[in-house]
Amino acid sequence: MAPSFWSESASSSRQLPLAWRWLARVVLWLPGAALALWLWIASDALPVAWRPIAWALAALYVAAVVALVITGTMAYRRRAERAATLEGRWQAILHATHLGIWDWDERLHTMYYSPSWKRMLGYAEHEIGTGLQEWMSRLHPDERDQVLVGVRRYYRGGGSGVYESVHRMRRKDGSYQWVELRGYAIERDARNRPLRFVGVQADITARRALEERLDRLAENVPGLLFQYRRDADGHDRFLYCTDKVRQIYGLTPEQLRRSAEPLAKRVHPDDLGPLLHSIAESARTLGVWQLAYRVVLPGRGERWISGMARPQRLDDGATVWHGYLHDATEERQLRERLDRLVQDVPGMLYQLRMEPGGRQWLPYVSRNSQAVYGLTAERMREDPAAMFALMEPDDLYSGQRKLEASARALTEWVHEFRIKLPGGGERWLSTRAQPQRIAGDAVLWNGYVQDVTAIKQQELRLQESERVLNHLMREMPIGLCMVNAAGQIYFRNRRFDEYFGYAPGETLTRERWWREAFPDPGYRAEVAMQWQMVKADALARGGEVAQHEYALWTPNGQRAMAIGGVALSGHLLVTFIDQTEQRAQSDQLRRMAYVDGLTGIANRRQFDLTLKAEWSRGQRSHQPLALLMVDIDRFKDFNDVYGHQQSDDCLRAVAGALQAGLSRPHDVVARYGGEEFACVLPVSGLSGALHIARALCDRVQALAIAHSGSSVASVVTVSIGVAVEVPGATGSPEQLVARADACLYRAKTAGRNRAVGDAAP
Ligand code: GH3
Ligand code: MG
Ligand code: MG
Repeated sequence: MAPSFWSESASSSRQLPLAWRWLARVVLWLPGAALALWLWIASDALPVAWRPIAWALAALYVAAVVALVITGTMAYRRRAERAATLEGRWQAILHATHLGIWDWDERLHTMYYSPSWKRMLGYAEHEIGTGLQEWMSRLHPDERDQVLVGVRRYYRGGGSGVYESVHRMRRKDGSYQWVELRGYAIERDARNRPLRFVGVQADITARRALEERLDRLAENVPGLLFQYRRDADGHDRFLYCTDKVRQIYGLTPEQLRRSAEPLAKRVHPDDLGPLLHSIAESARTLGVWQLAYRVVLPGRGERWISGMARPQRLDDGATVWHGYLHDATEERQLRERLDRLVQDVPGMLYQLRMEPGGRQWLPYVSRNSQAVYGLTAERMREDPAAMFALMEPDDLYSGQRKLEASARALTEWVHEFRIKLPGGGERWLSTRAQPQRIAGDAVLWNGYVQDVTAIKQQELRLQESERVLNHLMREMPIGLCMVNAAGQIYFRNRRFDEYFGYAPGETLTRERWWREAFPDPGYRAEVAMQWQMVKADALARGGEVAQHEYALWTPNGQRAMAIGGVALSGHLLVTFIDQTEQRAQSDQLRRMAYVDGLTGIANRRQFDLTLKAEWSRGQRSHQPLALLMVDIDRFKDFNDVYGHQQSDDCLRAVAGALQAGLSRPHDVVARYGGEEFACVLPVSGLSGALHIARALCDRVQALAIAHSGSSVASVVTVSIGVAVEVPGATGSPEQLVARADACLYRAKTAGRNRAVGDAAP
């Protein structure tokens, strides 16, 4: 083992200092001189007068020796004690810090390993020799080459500075432990090569475990943790950054630990300026650095990075930021999408915050504020009073009361209010917001405001038209009532009450109305059944109840009323139209259309229709149809003799006689034109028809209307042509008429006042 300064036997510390060593040498050298002095005194060669002086010198000398021996011994002991104390303290320090020492002597090719070095690896003092191999062979295979290369490089480089390495060493039990090694060259030869290389080895297993845990923690953080240092001279580098830097910047931690320079090439050219500026600002003010910027990564394109770091100034003037970066691309895209979405929403989204003191402000307002309030989002955020100032004072007051209630109970805040637009005009807004209690006992509402001016106006218009409708319904000239699903008549208009004789406020049930409108139980049941059918049918027509006419009893007697209506989700609007007068009128019109004005029997139009209808019926039934054409004899002469007035009376009398002469319900007599009449006799054969025709001739004659101008008789007579046919595929009503006419002509030429018949050809 090479004796060394670091030897724990501390041999050098037991040597006396140089001065003392010289003094000791002198003292040890003097006994010879003392003996010579003694012999000189004893030899009587010395004159007696000098003897006392010699004796004194001798005594002085002995005293000096004694003093020297005493003080020397004491000094020596003190020094030894101090050395022992120092060594003890040194040992204690080594022990306490778990530091192992080694000392390589290039000349002796020996290595001194301190007992603590050996203990660190679990060995006893005698179990480790002095060979370099003891150290080398215990290096972990994974780091062995790297460590040895590092040492050789350090040697070749002349051993300047400190050699550092962190690696694993094998313990006696075969396990490995992490150590940190720091070595120094403490002696060099003339060519500056290290001769002695002293090292300290520390057990960093615990630290390493902690670091690994921190690394694992850092790796699991979604972003990048870093320490960034800017030296006083402006050189930038990362002191520390997690492996995530590969994802964020596409660079390795090692690259950035040397210099932050490579970053500049990754940051988007447009964002590099703002980035550098923000770092410089943070360094200057020591304010938190915060920025979102783009990087352009090879193969991945443009990404958004969001970062935040807290700066700290060091004594040497450098600044170190401790911070966090993360890829905010997706977040940003999501936000942009959300922003676009928010902008597409017709209203304005906002956050309203109320502090415990009552102060209110808007942490967030979407861009649409301009469209809703006419104020920019920035303005509203900075100065919420500007927004409140626009509100109608009454609406603001009631809104605030509701807001306070919402804050207390944490229930939704719903409010509708008017604002005066900055450019003039009024607008109706409606808001809904959901409150939540947040940190610091504040309340935060997330809400939505929307312009409801149009809806509001529509609502007002609706109210207006509802009023108009109400008025109309009330004053309408037809009767109206509304019945709900429970059968209650909850609305009646004026005309309804007039129709049925009810006082305006009088209670009326559906049952009472039915009883009073239809007093006859049989008819009531019939109407009820028909009404049910009509109502059921209404469902198929989209609720419209078709109008049907019913006979109703009212205080004004029996009336014909058309009842219809609309079924509206369980309710029924019933309309009543009194048609009694119209009905009477239309009967008259019908009479005018189909009845001969002079005689009161069917006119030519009615005759044509009847003949056609009976012809068709005869075609279906194959029964014969008879047609009688009747003409007054010598009526021209009657006119001439008696005048028009009597002629009309005569026509009326003849018509009456003809009508009275036809007894079957389907027989019809019509005024064919002038003094000609036609009779349609369904289901009549020729003999029957001729029989009737002759009877008609007799009836007219029996009227005994004087006719002095007639060549036939003294009274008015008629001639009748009879044609009979079973209507078939051939033939027509017109041909029948023609044949009857032909017979009439024959009756005239045969002497008049007779009937001539013609059966079907
Ligand atoms: P006959 O039929 O016997 O051959 O002799 P007629 O005089 O009746 O001859 P015809 O039937 O051809 O003449 C019709 C005349 O009847 C003409 C007109 O003087 C009279 N007449 C026709 N229609 C009316 C009428 O509606 N009112 C009146 N007052 N006279 C009419
Ligand atoms: Mg005629
Ligand atoms: Mg005539």
